[in-house]
Amino acid sequence: MEIIHISAECYPVAKAGGLGDVVGALPKYQCKAGDIAKVIMPMYRTQFLYENDWQVDFKGSANLGNWYFEFTIIKEATNKLGFDLFLVDINGLLDRQKIYGYEDDAERFTAFQIAVVSWISSWEHSPDIVHCHDHHTALIPFMMQHCYAFQHLAAIPTVLTIHNAQYQGWMGWDKSLYIPRWDLWKRGLLDWAGNINPLAAGIKCAGKVTTVSTSYKDELRVKANGLENLFEFEKGKCEGILNGIDTQIWNPATDPYIQFGFTYRSVATGKAKNKKVLCDQFGLDINLPLFVFIGRMVGEKAADLLPDAIKTAIYYGNKNACFLVLGSGELLVEQAFQQMIGDYPGVFNASIGYNEALSHQMYAGADFLLMPSRVEPCGLNQLYAMRYGTIPVVRRTGGLKDTVVDMGDIDGFGIQFNEASISDINYSIGRGISVFQDKVHLAWMRKFMMQIDHSWEQTVDKYKTVYKSLQ
Ligand code: ADP
Repeated sequence: MEIIHISAECYPVAKAGGLGDVVGALPKYQCKAGDIAKVIMPMYRTQFLYENDWQVDFKGSANLGNWYFEFTIIKEATNKLGFDLFLVDINGLLDRQKIYGYEDDAERFTAFQIAVVSWISSWEHSPDIVHCHDHHTALIPFMMQHCYAFQHLAAIPTVLTIHNAQYQGWMGWDKSLYIPRWDLWKRGLLDWAGNINPLAAGIKCAGKVTTVSTSYKDELRVKANGLENLFEFEKGKCEGILNGIDTQIWNPATDPYIQFGFTYRSVATGKAKNKKVLCDQFGLDINLPLFVFIGRMVGEKAADLLPDAIKTAIYYGNKNACFLVLGSGELLVEQAFQQMIGDYPGVFNASIGYNEALSHQMYAGADFLLMPSRVEPCGLNQLYAMRYGTIPVVRRTGGLKDTVVDMGDIDGFGIQFNEASISDINYSIGRGISVFQDKVHLAWMRKFMMQIDHSWEQTVDKYKTVYKSLQ
């Protein structure tokens, strides 16, 4: 099967979160399984672009409303990632360093999608599947089926994977001219609540919709940032497929970012050595259980609760645990953490920003990972933590519910709680501290979770079944 993945992110080219990890890994494992998977994404000005060799694959032009633009598609020359990687260059729109967060994101990603569909429509053959990821690429099924210029692509099966339904790419109807000419009576396919809603259009038009965990698929029918009714209506074509993790990159025995490699057999000593490095670097007390948070500091992750939750834990626990956070996001949360640095020597520190190497070092050196998420479509952090013998302390939601078993249950290796609240977080930190003191139980939990198989090999088969159902 020839599968074309279209995405705004792909690790290691450009990553802001889990989407990048998934699109960097799934195609590689699909190729290993014998399919031909390719990725096409925008050509941001990232380090990966400058450090690799490229060849021009296609040059074309198109219109975004009244604006005529030319685009170039280049291909990575050496199959470095284990699949063919294509980048779309559109001067003035995609030639930026960051992935998101610009005022003209609607223009950037609509033009990107037009360029991708124009590219596919120039081929002499048709791919077997066009696989779109999140709202940045979710107009593509509509374009392939309903734009006059692309109607010869209408029979190609499309799949939309939703990594995060909070972001939907809304734009006003004044921007409808951006979409290449289409029958106006099909307006209802693009519309949701009076706006053009690319994610909603993708859900309506794609042959199948997948979410990155089964619990998230079910939760979307009651909580989907306004799309609940649509998820209820389209539930027949929705399927939950839990993300895998790239076990070549996330392997504590060979991870080049960490100083001391370890396996489940040597986790006690390996983790202790990595913890020492981390504690020395951030001035933390190595004898205390170390709780870390890694991620976007946004409401979805309940990062806003953590400054007060951590202060409470330090105050009431009389400094019996230490905390380290890594992330960036909402200014108020960043500032709250920044203000705490220095106030709690030995038990708290923070690194504000994005730091891939440090994230690996924290998974390796920490004892516990905090994830109080209000919404968690799949969550990769807890899977990485488990692979590195770090006990996940998670709210019972979405993919966290599907992957972590509470230590009070049979074969439980993690800690779960119900509410995204300071009291539930603190109660769970308390449970963590008590298990940290029970060295036999702690050793068993670490060894058990490190051996759980979350590799992509099994997940790839589930996507294949979805693709086949559309043939
Ligand atoms: P989301 O995609 O919602 O942000 P996921 O749990 O699916 O959350 O994936 C998060 C990914 O991003 C993980 O690989 C995590 O390690 C990484 N990550 C998030 N924030 C940072 C950061 N500040 N520095 C390094 N890695 C980060």
